[in-house]
Amino acid sequence: MSSESVSKESVQTVPSTSSTSSSPNEVSADGRPLLTFAAPRRAKPARHLADLSMAERRDAVAELGEKAFRADQLSRHYFDRLTHDAAAMTDLPTASRDRLAEALLPSLLTPVREIVCDGGTTRKTLWRLFDGALVESVLMRYPERVTICVSSQAGCGMNCPFCATGQAGLTRNMSTAEIVEQVVAGARALAAGEVPGGPGRVSNIVFMGMGEPMANYKAVIGAVRRMTDPSPHGLGISARGVTVSTVGLVPAIGKLAAEGLPVTLALSLHAPDDELRDTLVPVNTRWKVDEVLDAAWDYARITGRRVSIEYALIKDVNDQEWRADLLGRLVKNRLAHVNLIPLNPTPGSKWTASRPEDERAFVRRLEAHGVPVTVRDTRGREIDGACGQLAAAAPEE
Ligand code: SAH
Repeated sequence: MSSESVSKESVQTVPSTSSTSSSPNEVSADGRPLLTFAAPRRAKPARHLADLSMAERRDAVAELGEKAFRADQLSRHYFDRLTHDAAAMTDLPTASRDRLAEALLPSLLTPVREIVCDGGTTRKTLWRLFDGALVESVLMRYPERVTICVSSQAGCGMNCPFCATGQAGLTRNMSTAEIVEQVVAGARALAAGEVPGGPGRVSNIVFMGMGEPMANYKAVIGAVRRMTDPSPHGLGISARGVTVSTVGLVPAIGKLAAEGLPVTLALSLHAPDDELRDTLVPVNTRWKVDEVLDAAWDYARITGRRVSIEYALIKDVNDQEWRADLLGRLVKNRLAHVNLIPLNPTPGSKWTASRPEDERAFVRRLEAHGVPVTVRDTRGREIDGACGQLAAAAPEE
């Protein structure tokens, strides 16, 4: 592990590219930078098997003086049997299993609190990372699928004013293994029959917990590979079941399209016009609605995957029929659907969810343009597990 502890915070605001963009010194009302792309540099979590490709695992095992095939055995234990307990690895000589588990399966996430609702089928876990940073994941079991919502950063630098995480600022990027461990922990609970409905498997993963996944690109791609690589190299979850949600970092969307990973892209649009989106999703001051939608349509064309346009309906802010019309015109005839999310108000927020009649009118307008629309269920709301709420219930440190 690196000996550097908290060093200089490399906070960067985005340079202006046009007269309407934010100035380099633009700050939000509370004095924080409007946007923070580069994560503060902090000590890194310990290296873990899930950080490594198969080739890297074989090298790491060899460096420990073990035969390379031990990497395959260790991978099977972790990704297939979901164990990190050396004592259970009875196909490995005792000395080897202790050495390998100690070097490659360090404990990265410590559960601080688990909150359960929906008869046990929605479970939110608050995790403490090695340096005290807190993140959350949510497991949601439905009759036909199990979705795990994971965090990709401790905090977030994108500063969306309606999002609880956005209000907390960015603490640090998570490592690939810290992201993967959230899924492995959920998979383990499911396999052990701890979630009502009998033993089960994870079918879907959404990067909709804390953080902006495209601002932690490398670690997120590594995590997606570990999640989707066939067992025992990875968890063997279908890439089609993985959704990466972003505020719209245009260059990163382009890079993701070129990865050859057919994951679903969710774009958090929340407004069809620049004037409003500049305030709701501040990264819009850097990449405008037309640019971000072009990136999304390119993504759909290159991957063949239908893009999900996320739109949190906020009463009297973005739920007017003319905005539904404008959104409908932008999305019609594209490989895309609109996913409306009733706003889940953050504590102290002046905003709230749209009136039911306004929501219905919004849906009708979109449908009149032939745009497929879904309204997201609000699973987990009473445990603050719903979108954007993951930071809200974390205890003060
Ligand atoms: N940073 C990424 C992923 C995390 S948030 C992104 O912004 O896409 C996942 C989704 O929840 C995003 O669409 C986000 O805009 C939405 N969201 C955040 N706060 C919310 C709230 N209070 N109510 C409803 N949706 C919210």
